[in-house]
Amino acid sequence: MLRSIRWRIAFPYVLLVLLVMLGLGAYLSLIIRESYLERLDTQLTDAALLISDAVTPALKNNNSKGSMDQSAQYYASMLGMRVTIIAPDGTVLGESEEPSAQLDNHLTRPEVAQALARGKGSSIRLSNTLNIQMYYLAVIVKSGQQTLGIVRVALPLAQVDASINHLQGIIMGASAVAAVLAILLAALIAGRITIPLRDLTETVNKMSVNSLKGQRLTGTLIPRHADEVGQLTEAFNGLAVQLQSQIDDLEAERNKMAAVLQEMTDGVLIIAPNGKVQMLNAAAENMFGIHLETAVGHSVAETIRYYQIVDLWQRCQESGEAQSTIMEIIDKKLYLQGVATPLGKSHSGSILLLFQNLTRLRQLETVRRDFISNISHELRTPLASLKALTETLQDGALDDPPAARRFLERIETEVDSMSLMVAELLELSRIESGRVPLKLESTRPVDILTSAIERLRLQAERAGLTLTLDCPQDLPLVLADQPRLEQVTVNLLHNAIKFTPSGGRIGISAQVQNDLVVFSVKDTGIGIPASDLPRIFERFYKADRGRATGGTGLGLSISRHLVEAHGGKIWVDSVEGEGSTFYYSIPIAS
Ligand code: ADP
Repeated sequence: MLRSIRWRIAFPYVLLVLLVMLGLGAYLSLIIRESYLERLDTQLTDAALLISDAVTPALKNNNSKGSMDQSAQYYASMLGMRVTIIAPDGTVLGESEEPSAQLDNHLTRPEVAQALARGKGSSIRLSNTLNIQMYYLAVIVKSGQQTLGIVRVALPLAQVDASINHLQGIIMGASAVAAVLAILLAALIAGRITIPLRDLTETVNKMSVNSLKGQRLTGTLIPRHADEVGQLTEAFNGLAVQLQSQIDDLEAERNKMAAVLQEMTDGVLIIAPNGKVQMLNAAAENMFGIHLETAVGHSVAETIRYYQIVDLWQRCQESGEAQSTIMEIIDKKLYLQGVATPLGKSHSGSILLLFQNLTRLRQLETVRRDFISNISHELRTPLASLKALTETLQDGALDDPPAARRFLERIETEVDSMSLMVAELLELSRIESGRVPLKLESTRPVDILTSAIERLRLQAERAGLTLTLDCPQDLPLVLADQPRLEQVTVNLLHNAIKFTPSGGRIGISAQVQNDLVVFSVKDTGIGIPASDLPRIFERFYKADRGRATGGTGLGLSISRHLVEAHGGKIWVDSVEGEGSTFYYSIPIAS
């Protein structure tokens, strides 16, 4: 019970009131008793003196035992008290309550002894005769120097005790009422203090539950009074607001960090000192084909199947220093640089594993290497042939004019083909580096196709091929740089003519697909082997290097770049021996 503030405040009050009332009660009882006894003493003294005066003559002549019983009874009934008349030797001469003949010598009674010694004596004691508590008072009766006897009067103390009991009853009642009032008052005061405290406790509890659930710390309290509890409430409100704002800041910071981590293209893993995965980001999930839910809490070795990573982590853990490695994940065609860094004691010895994807860089490196080897390869043939032709001329062919002319024509062809290649390369590099600005305008698809066909119609006819156009006039306009898309169509058409034997057919068409117009060039030519299809749009790529078609292998690459610059796509369907269909899509002008 004393654990509640209400009772802790009430208890001392009640104790204090009770102690004061009890002390007061005891003190008053004492005082009242004394004043009663004093009054009794005076009353009894007066009565004894009166009686002694009255019995003096009788005592002078009469001092035999029991001779004055009647006088004693007479005075007793008159004064309303017990009266005893005693001879100087202690013999009871008269007694109001009992025949004195039965009474013993009273000389040893304390009040009698005192009266003989000092003229007056008193005592409070149990009456031998009546067996009740009595106040006895005795005075000596003298005649000159001669002691005639002693008059003793007595009253029972029952009346005094009753008065005192009554008073004590009143005090007890008052104490009880005061205690109840003190309890009520204390409860009232304590209530004023404890209700706001209880509100505060409730709100704090609610907040702690909310914070455990990750919810906001809501619950502002309105101070009821401007006292200390009110100030505490104000301070608490301020604290809650501050705390929430700090939590918000931390959360925002954490979300930012989590977003950065998730959006990073580098794979990140954090490994606890016990070798268990603590955290990993989306990039790491993709790189290693693992999932956050199944990886966290499991050891690196059982989570990641690549031994190089486990080895990297182990080296870092053993040395306590940063370690790095270059590794290839064959099944995912990934080329990675991994760095393991200890996070230090502040992060309980965890290790950070960071994986940078170098696949693209490596591809670029390979492309660059291929490009150089391709270009040297492409130039070597015409250069060798030029060298051979000039040597032949120098060796005497010059003297044979018809032969010399033939050689010069062949030299011209080789130089033309090299010039074409250099021109195409320059074009490609300009397109790739974005130095060919497109002039995009709303263009009719049919215009693009018609002008391309016009440019190559003669060439197709000479090759014995039928050329058909299937393009509705009312197709939606596309957003295009017309000359550039014409160039793409010419490239595709040119290839179709080149790779379709005489008698074949070439169909050119355009149609709408969603918000795109898809152009296509279909031939019934030699087709492209399935194994070559994925690489057909690469620079210098030729499906069949053995066949001398005289191309540079750059046409499709240029076409792809031009289509992609328009925001479109280029692709091919082909079956070897049956023919090919090249498609490209261009967005419709809105
Ligand atoms: P090229 O100047 O050699 O024609 P391209 O980039 O235009 O260069 O074509 C690359 C290769 O793709 C060609 O060498 C050829 O092997 C193949 N190819 C392109 N178009 C066709 C087609 N219509 N039919 C068959 N093969 C084709």
